[in-house]
Amino acid sequence: MAKILILNIPMHGHVNPTIALTKELVERGHDVTYLISEEFRKKIVPTGANIITYKSQAGKTVVIKDLFTTMSTIYYKALKIGGDFDCLIYEMGFFYGAKLGEELGIKTVCLTSTFALNDKIGDDFIKNNAFLRSFLRNIMKSKAFRKVLSILLIKDKNLRHADLIYELIDHNPDLNIVYTTRQFQVHNEDFDEKQFVFIGPSVGGRVKECDIPFDKMKEKIVYISLGTVSTNSLHFFKTCIEAFKDTNVSVIMSIGKQINIKDLGIIPANFYVYPLVPQVVVLEHTDLFITHCGMNSANEAMYCGIPVIGIPQRGDQPIVGNRMKELGLGEVINKKHVTATNLSATANKIDRKSTRLNSSH
Ligand code: UDP
Repeated sequence: MAKILILNIPMHGHVNPTIALTKELVERGHDVTYLISEEFRKKIVPTGANIITYKSQAGKTVVIKDLFTTMSTIYYKALKIGGDFDCLIYEMGFFYGAKLGEELGIKTVCLTSTFALNDKIGDDFIKNNAFLRSFLRNIMKSKAFRKVLSILLIKDKNLRHADLIYELIDHNPDLNIVYTTRQFQVHNEDFDEKQFVFIGPSVGGRVKECDIPFDKMKEKIVYISLGTVSTNSLHFFKTCIEAFKDTNVSVIMSIGKQINIKDLGIIPANFYVYPLVPQVVVLEHTDLFITHCGMNSANEAMYCGIPVIGIPQRGDQPIVGNRMKELGLGEVINKKHVTATNLSATANKIDRKSTRLNSSH
């Protein structure tokens, strides 16, 4: 039996895929402690792990400084208690995991909920984010700029001297577990098979209870979600209503917590709108998924065999969307060009091609 400390940042996309692994470690008899913010306690309780919480604003805001403040909170808390553990498992959203593991002198494992990263993917990331293009390209290439970036972003006196980009991209422990398939990973030839283990989507241990009335729905179901972070686009959700009202499909729409259902106006009878749904359960009933291409959503769509219309919003999502299109898993629409007409035309195009959709005829 090993004493294992798991660390994570308080964001659903980073926590969700760790649940099944945590539960499995507990079931195998390990003594597992999970360090997470209080808001995520109820997601971790069913795993059976001990829970230690920290206070954080990250996840409640999209302010980047809140994320770095949270990282320093996690770092010092783990540094204090970590000496009692045999193994440290951290999620890559906590940039200082490898550094912390070395300081603690214990075996360290990284869990990766996006693509495994290297410089080529860093370049892809910049190419796909217009506003970052010129600014970040310079920063990524220059050690001096990288130092300045770390100093600007991080208040903490000790951590601000670590090069953030190095910590995120190059500083990898001996074992990195990636929640996607090797085929889906971009530049997969660059990742050593022993150091990077691609285990595929991790969807176990999620909440299953759900009162969505699937039995009252039409034969075909479209599910729409922009994930848990980029959910403040009232215009996008209204466009979806325009595209699919008066059609012969039922639409389940998860709108997040930033906008109010009332602001959508009249909800057509074929729409079922919620702030949050148990996504994996919903996907099991879905024929088409309109998604922001968060890596978890993409993995979950692949796991359930659902074609997607990807509408990437930010970060790694354009890369995820391109990869899905490249592998024939769906279509992508630029978020600036989404209209009711092209949404419904793209849905029809996928409907004609999709075996899953066609098998329901
Ligand atoms: N999710 C969910 N219900 C919803 C919306 C999202 O359970 O109504 C889950 C989804 O299954 C995924 C995570 O939240 O595991 C979102 O992660 P992703 O990487 O797709 O996007 P992010 O929210 O990080 O942008």
